[in-house]
Amino acid sequence: MIVISLQMQRHIFVYVLLTFLYNNVRAGITSDSCINRVDSLLGIVTSLAPSNPTLAIEVCRAGIKLSEDCSDTLSLIEFKTLLGRSYTMTANYPVALKELFEAQNLARKIEDTSGEAFSIMSQGNVFFYHKLYTEAHAYYSKAIELAKTCGDSILIGSASHNYGLTFFNAFKNYDSAFYYLNKALNIFIAQGDSAKVLFTLYNIGSNYYDQAKYELAIKYIQEAIQSSGKYLGNAFYGDALITLGDIYSRQKNYPLSEKYMLKGLELAKQNNMLYYVEKGYYYLSNHYRRKGNFPKAYEFSSKALNLKDSLEKRDVANKIAILKIKYDLESKEQEIKLLTTEKSLAQEKLKKGKILQNITILVLVLVVIITILGIKQFRIQKRFNEKLQKQVYDKTHELSYALKRAEKSDELKSKFLQNMSHEVRTPLNAIHGFSELLSEQSDSSDAQKEFASNIIRNSNYLIELFDNITLISRLETNDYRFNFNQFNVYQFLDTLAEKFTYRSQEKHHGQVEFVFGTENVDVELLINNDYESLKIVLYNLLDNALKYTTSGTIIFKAQKFDNYLLFTVSDTGIGIPKEFHMQIFEKFRKFNLLDHKFNRGAGLGLPISKLITEKLGGEIWFDSIPGSGSNFFVKIPMNKA
Ligand code: ADP
Repeated sequence: MIVISLQMQRHIFVYVLLTFLYNNVRAGITSDSCINRVDSLLGIVTSLAPSNPTLAIEVCRAGIKLSEDCSDTLSLIEFKTLLGRSYTMTANYPVALKELFEAQNLARKIEDTSGEAFSIMSQGNVFFYHKLYTEAHAYYSKAIELAKTCGDSILIGSASHNYGLTFFNAFKNYDSAFYYLNKALNIFIAQGDSAKVLFTLYNIGSNYYDQAKYELAIKYIQEAIQSSGKYLGNAFYGDALITLGDIYSRQKNYPLSEKYMLKGLELAKQNNMLYYVEKGYYYLSNHYRRKGNFPKAYEFSSKALNLKDSLEKRDVANKIAILKIKYDLESKEQEIKLLTTEKSLAQEKLKKGKILQNITILVLVLVVIITILGIKQFRIQKRFNEKLQKQVYDKTHELSYALKRAEKSDELKSKFLQNMSHEVRTPLNAIHGFSELLSEQSDSSDAQKEFASNIIRNSNYLIELFDNITLISRLETNDYRFNFNQFNVYQFLDTLAEKFTYRSQEKHHGQVEFVFGTENVDVELLINNDYESLKIVLYNLLDNALKYTTSGTIIFKAQKFDNYLLFTVSDTGIGIPKEFHMQIFEKFRKFNLLDHKFNRGAGLGLPISKLITEKLGGEIWFDSIPGSGSNFFVKIPMNKA
């Protein structure tokens, strides 16, 4: 086996470094040459690190410089992590942690999750070598999680391997330790990484050794040290030999055990692996004790104790230093977290501000749209209103014109009717007069007398009709003259009652009783109103009562109240159907056309009465039950102003 001395290794390194520096100057730093050179340096570091960490440190420093010149942050992170790992191997833990922490921060900054996981795992190593297994355990767990997020299987394998070791060292949880070591082993086998496979086998063997499962331990460790421990690195090869030596010693295979242990001790010493040296002394002491060589046993025992003492002292100092660094790191991390939270808060605020801004813009846009629509709507509305106004104006104009025309034509019609009535009334009067003369002639036959009275009756009806037409026309055209005078109301009523008592008797021959009565109407009572007009009103009502009653009673009553008189004409006649109540005071309305008995009349009496009553300052109304009778009421002031 060719063993390269430290001196020789240093020469090789200086040669490699000089070659790199020369190439840099000659070729200038181009991106291609950068990638090549960085890759080569990384390769050198990886192969040097396990066996010669001191040299690896120097190559890492060159790698850091080159990465910075090439602005290759990813490689910078990797070199820094490898530098930290190499410092760990040389037991310079504070510097190791500093580099690893810087690497982690850089990786986090550029979101290089894989780089961050690698540096965290390497920080775990620092704690591991200080036997701060619980801390190391936490770091490895974090590294596994991160490695999983970026799917870096090499890292998952390495971190699982180390995680398994902490189960074994920290908690003596051999099952979990085996689970993770085996998981790592499978990953390394799949990757064809022989060095890592053998190293894992060595650790699985140690796991079994600790459980006193010596046969399994021998099986795994023997496999791990194949090819004279070439892949394991001298330090671990030494430890493996010491462990195997102890097992053989326990199995009383003394020659083999001594050979393994002494060789292992030598390798541990060469690599300055003092823990393994102390372990070697201790196992050798036990070995000699078993063999009964007590002086040797004593010699190694005291060596072991001395070394243990100094190691423990160093350990205590280191532990304190490392815990302080850990504390500092944690505070820094806290600070970073705080800053990150603040940053994300600020970003959140910014985001919220943006949202608010967008909402404001949206609202403004909406307001503008609504305003535009509003203005448009307003204009449309305005135009519509103007059009409507014009239409209303035109219509009003048209209507007022039509009204004027209607009024005019109504007036013309009334005038025509007045003239006509006058023109017709004159010959009618003559007919009436001559008929009377004819009926009074003593030499007239009975038949002639009968004809004459027929002519008289019909001409009377015609005269009455024409009188009514003339009257309503004059009332409507304000051509009718009212004469307000003082008169004795009792006498007025009495005359009227007398006339209708007579007419009732004449018409109904006692079938209808006519009753007249007053309340509070003094025989001397004088009122100021239009005698003739009031007579027309009451005459019409009494005439209707007489006309539409065939049996029963007609009551004509006058009541005096404070300042008005109320006249009531009640009958037990045919009554007025409900559906006609609203139209009763309209012109030419007749509601008993089917019954010839009651067919006489033109439907003018009530409209004339209403027009006159209102002109007299009074009111007229009625109630009626069809089949039972009607009550007509007229109320007039006693002193028309
Ligand atoms: P007319 O000359 O036909 O009686 P009016 O204007 O006096 O005209 O009455 C209009 C209609 O009202 C009558 O045709 C009749 O149908 C009805 N009417 C008026 N008074 C009475 C009443 N006392 N009893 C029943 N019906 C009446």
